[in-house]
Amino acid sequence: MSQELQTGSFQWMKSLNKSTILHVIRRHGPISRAEIAKLTKLTPPTVTNIVNELLESKLVVESELGESSGGRKPILLRLDSSRFTVIGICVGTKRIRGVTATLDGQVVQYVEEGIPAQPSPEEFLARLTSVVRRLITQTDEAVHSILGIGVGMHGLIDPERGVSIYAPHLHLRNVPVKEVLETTFSLPVEVQNDVRALALGESWFGQGQGISNFICVYVGSGVGAGIILEGRLYHGTSYSAGEMGHTTIDIEGPKCHCGNNGCLEAFVSGPAIARRAREAIRSGAVSVLKEWVSGDLEQLTGEMVHRAAQQGDELAIRILEDTGKYLGIGLANLINTLNPSKIILSGGVARAGDFVLRKLRETVQERALQTPAQAVTIVTSELGPHAMEIGAVTLFLQKMFTPGKAAEIS
Ligand SMILES: [Zn+2]
Repeated sequence: MSQELQTGSFQWMKSLNKSTILHVIRRHGPISRAEIAKLTKLTPPTVTNIVNELLESKLVVESELGESSGGRKPILLRLDSSRFTVIGICVGTKRIRGVTATLDGQVVQYVEEGIPAQPSPEEFLARLTSVVRRLITQTDEAVHSILGIGVGMHGLIDPERGVSIYAPHLHLRNVPVKEVLETTFSLPVEVQNDVRALALGESWFGQGQGISNFICVYVGSGVGAGIILEGRLYHGTSYSAGEMGHTTIDIEGPKCHCGNNGCLEAFVSGPAIARRAREAIRSGAVSVLKEWVSGDLEQLTGEMVHRAAQQGDELAIRILEDTGKYLGIGLANLINTLNPSKIILSGGVARAGDFVLRKLRETVQERALQTPAQAVTIVTSELGPHAMEIGAVTLFLQKMFTPGKAAEIS
């Protein structure tokens, strides 16, 4: 499939009835034409015509025969997820990671490149296009056709225009990510904040499937959330909904890089965990961590604190338990405000497992109101090491498969 045709085919698929039928086949397939007509309220001839076009495009295939309700057994339709791929890019603080994945979220290939410190917009975009180009070059066109690109990027994003308004760790402002990628590769592009994209990934492929009110909380080098309310990603008035890392949990607390004091992020992010370990050792606490960095405490990382805890280091265990307590306070505030049925934890702190989670759950039970606390389950993500990139892939899938009035079609 030529790239011009792919851009055209995106427009073609986005026509409302096609999008609606694709959505129903994805959600309910294998499914018969008659059932599609019933669910979409489209007439049987309209369904037949559109299904024929979808069969021709090879996005949909005929599978087994269904149960008969008296007459001939109907032929069932399903999505051919393996034939097409989507590029998913995650722009972190130090690296750009990219995958191609099939329409059911299976990763086919992975590449990554470092980002130079404080890059110019041109340097950054050169790395970004390089990652995308490598993924396109490595794709065997006879096996997979690439439908589009999703980009999840840290910081503040305008998803309507696909612009990175502010990427604090890269010191970049107003970078037209969507425009540059669409012009360079002639593929449709969706851009969103990385954690918001991750929440969509959880709702399609992870533990948010079928759940209307859940929050995906990412705790890594930063802290953020993606909020799904009534089945939709909540953006807020200026796209910053979910910035829970900068809610205050201690007005006397340490300085945060946002300029405030005592933000949640200043207690529980990876760098904050390392900082607390460093301060404790400087005040005389005994820990194997001091030997690991040969006394150069600036080398400490959050990940090292986790490894030391696994080896039974008492200071490291205490620091992770405190992390659970702080994060539990942050989550209790979120639970009282939004009353979600699930919170999905992702990122390095989620990988620290019980060292953090036990205290976290305890704190939530103590601090959140009884009714919302009993209604929520707190779990860790199972999307694996490419969770962020899968989230970026989902940005594109969401756009492609969701008809204008998706909420009405269950
Ligand atoms: Zn802050």
